[in-house]
Amino acid sequence: MQTLFSEQDIAFQNEVRQFLVDNFSTELSERIQSPATFKSGVIEWQKILHKKGWVAPSWPVEFGGTGWSDTQKFIFDNERARLGIPVTNPFGLKMVAPVIQTFGSADQKARFLPRILASDDWWCQGYSEPGAGSDLAAVKTRAVRNGDEYVVNGAKIWTTNAHLADWIFCLVQTDPNATRPQQGISFLLIDMTSPGIKVNPIISIDGRHSLNEVEFNEVRVPVTNCVGEENKGWTYAKALLAHERTVIAGVADATRDLNLVKAHASKELVDGRPMLDEPDFQRRLAEIEIELMALEYTELRVLAAVATGGSPGAESSILKIKGTEIQQAIQTLMMDVAGVFGSALADDLSGDDLGHDFGDRARVRYMYGRAATIYGGSNEVQKNIIAKAILGL
Ligand SMILES: Cc1cc2nc3c(=O)[nH]c(=O)nc-3n(C[C@H](O)[C@H](O)[C@H](O)COP(=O)(O)OP(=O)(O)OC[C@H]3O[C@@H](n4cnc5c(N)ncnc54)[C@H](O)[C@@H]3O)c2cc1C
Repeated sequence: MQTLFSEQDIAFQNEVRQFLVDNFSTELSERIQSPATFKSGVIEWQKILHKKGWVAPSWPVEFGGTGWSDTQKFIFDNERARLGIPVTNPFGLKMVAPVIQTFGSADQKARFLPRILASDDWWCQGYSEPGAGSDLAAVKTRAVRNGDEYVVNGAKIWTTNAHLADWIFCLVQTDPNATRPQQGISFLLIDMTSPGIKVNPIISIDGRHSLNEVEFNEVRVPVTNCVGEENKGWTYAKALLAHERTVIAGVADATRDLNLVKAHASKELVDGRPMLDEPDFQRRLAEIEIELMALEYTELRVLAAVATGGSPGAESSILKIKGTEIQQAIQTLMMDVAGVFGSALADDLSGDDLGHDFGDRARVRYMYGRAATIYGGSNEVQKNIIAKAILGL
């Protein structure tokens, strides 16, 4: 990729690299990694990016976007990932914001977008319900119009970071008599401090708390918080899902993880040899690298389509499937490398300068990583989308 960059691109790359190195401190990185300080750390980092004007590269310039070319966006994301800097919180900046920008009223744009840009509001996504995951149109959470308010009753599940959120964007049923369920759904923006909302934690297999159930009991929501037209929410939700899947592909971060695996595998011991010298390990590594490179080009193609006014569309399903499969393959390699280091430690064969942090990271990534082929719409369902929209089956 590097060789394709123009001189201006390389100057931009140097500028980005310098800014990130100067502003993303080790202390900030540690705060983001600790559950207790995760939110304040992310907000602090996003505010630094906001001050520089770089927090929302994918937004149109009129709303505060950077106006970068695709290549510049690509460079920025690669530099960020190379330095191990986390992505910005996607629920506000990358999911609800494009929906408000495209379908929201002038008031909604003026009220919500600047606060998302400045990280003053933390958002979460209220789509899934116990009986409505893959079959999202089956949502049962009801919003009944009462004067200039809706009264909302129901429950959402798997809501990432709802316990930290100020706002939730929700799919709710507003017309149970619609001929097709998709025609009776609306897209509501709900203040998480509204009376009648209860957040119940769900602890995931990695032992962490990011998931939640959110209960709505007679929650009153102003009608002005309905995005676009009532009962047209399905159209807006689909546009958002395409953006979400593109975000999940995570090509730049996968590249960093793979480099990390390689660095550790070059030091680990298998019968006195680095794991990197093992033919079977080399084969697995090469397979993943080739897939990752192919995915990178696909991502650039999708980004180019979006930049010329298109929507990511069904191609985002390809990115989601391949991106998450590659992430899981890398996480499995990580566990294997960490495992070898574990036995090396037991035999007192090697120093421990790499081991504990890497092993812990590998464990958490491997455990949570199993969910990647489920969230954002399961990979099986993405295959159905590809079959219909791309292959015409
Ligand atoms: C870690 C994590 C974070 C999440 N965060 C959020 C969030 O912030 N907000 C939110 O709204 N949701 C979130 N989700 C929910 C996620 O979007 C759903 O789990 C997902 O859409 C699958 O729905 P489900 O769990 O109900 O499974 P189901 O729909 O019950 O599916 C069960 C299995 O059946 C398969 N299946 C279902 N239908 C078909 C079909 N038609 N063809 C082939 N196979 C099929 C699926 O692939 C899956 O393997 C999160 C999930 C996870 C795991």
